[in-house]
Amino acid sequence: MKLLMCLNCNDVFSLDMYEKGCSCGRSKGKYINQQLAEYTGEFALPLGFTNSSLIQAIKHQPNEGMGKEFTAFVIPKNCETFFKRF
Ligand SMILES: [Zn+2]
Repeated sequence: MKLLMCLNCNDVFSLDMYEKGCSCGRSKGKYINQQLAEYTGEFALPLGFTNSSLIQAIKHQPNEGMGKEFTAFVIPKNCETFFKRF
């Protein structure tokens, strides 16, 4: 699952097939197809969630105590499936 974080306003949002943007309007992105996504903005940081780990964390959501961790990662600057459009 691809997401975008704006380092200017700290919004984190998932992408869709239509362009979505952050609160301050400086980071935008969208999916081009099932695999490819693009983003723009000097403050835009591409993020990924490992889907399988998120699904497991949702399934095993604790009733109390510590939260259930899942894997999130910062996507490399050069990524063939999630790239920056200038
Ligand atoms: Zn922003």
